[in-house]
Amino acid sequence: MFECTLAGSLPKPFWLSETNKLWPQWKVQGPELATAKRDATLFWLKAQEDAGLDIVSDGEQSRQHFVHGFLEFVDGIDFEHKVKMGIRNNRYDAMVPKAVAPLKLKDRAHQTEARIARAHTRKKLKFTMPGPMTIVDTIADDYYGDRVKLAIAFAELLNQEALALEADGVDVIQFDEPAFNAFTKEAATWGIEALHRAIDGLKCTTAVHICYGYGIKANLDWKRTLGEEWRQYEAFFPALAKSRIQQVSLECHHSHVPPDLMKLLEGKDVLVGVIDVASDIVETPEEVADTIGNALKFVPKERLFPCTNCGLAPMDREIALKKLEALGKGAALARKRYG
Ligand SMILES: [Zn+2]
Repeated sequence: MFECTLAGSLPKPFWLSETNKLWPQWKVQGPELATAKRDATLFWLKAQEDAGLDIVSDGEQSRQHFVHGFLEFVDGIDFEHKVKMGIRNNRYDAMVPKAVAPLKLKDRAHQTEARIARAHTRKKLKFTMPGPMTIVDTIADDYYGDRVKLAIAFAELLNQEALALEADGVDVIQFDEPAFNAFTKEAATWGIEALHRAIDGLKCTTAVHICYGYGIKANLDWKRTLGEEWRQYEAFFPALAKSRIQQVSLECHHSHVPPDLMKLLEGKDVLVGVIDVASDIVETPEEVADTIGNALKFVPKERLFPCTNCGLAPMDREIALKKLEALGKGAALARKRYG
């Protein structure tokens, strides 16, 4: 009970890339980069195990950014002539590549890191990829001319990679869809339709992570405009409850999401965010257990998985380590209290 896990990303060590950044530059190149990525993956697997996490991940150590780390492996995208685009419904501007031809996977995107992770842990292994809607919101389109067509095209590639990851021994495949909170109506319709295409034929556990973003300034400023109650989830949770996705990862601790919205996910596993990624203050195990206790009013205990609110990528590594420890200890305390 209360198997705990993380949303996905973890900070990159100083010997791999720049630190405390969302789009860090690699510190080394070529074979040294491959070695540094592997070492960073092993370091974080051990740290997650030591912290008592039950479902671990590669911490996204092999990709520069969670969306572009996948796009690098897709043919039909022009990275040379990036354009400025407002993303997450114009919350902030980013320089994005363009789809310019039919999309196709060049090769396996994440085989190396998935196999390294699988070979070095006996814990359940989760692997994260960007969801189709979030990709569409992070790329310009000069070819498909229709966001839904573009999303389905990406969903087919994600599905191809997901089936291969499952064959590599991955237990949980999670798609990250922060864009759902920016386009709530579309999320309920073509957002979920594209996710269904992405999970077609998978036998492993499937998950979607929907958050309010990393603790970066643009997100913190946006959150201030959302008012006292953040009700975005309400628009698409009922459709998600009816979907074939098995797990939903959401923000809870320190967020303004009314916790009773979790009731809308009846029948799903709920990955409840009990660790705030927008604050450097480390939660105590008691606080984590209290958040789990509150969520239990809305989620049955066999369906509740304590998790982080979002990825920890831009954080200080020592703080991230302490937050993982708080997560593991808090889940253990909750097992004693509510088990
Ligand atoms: Zn997130």
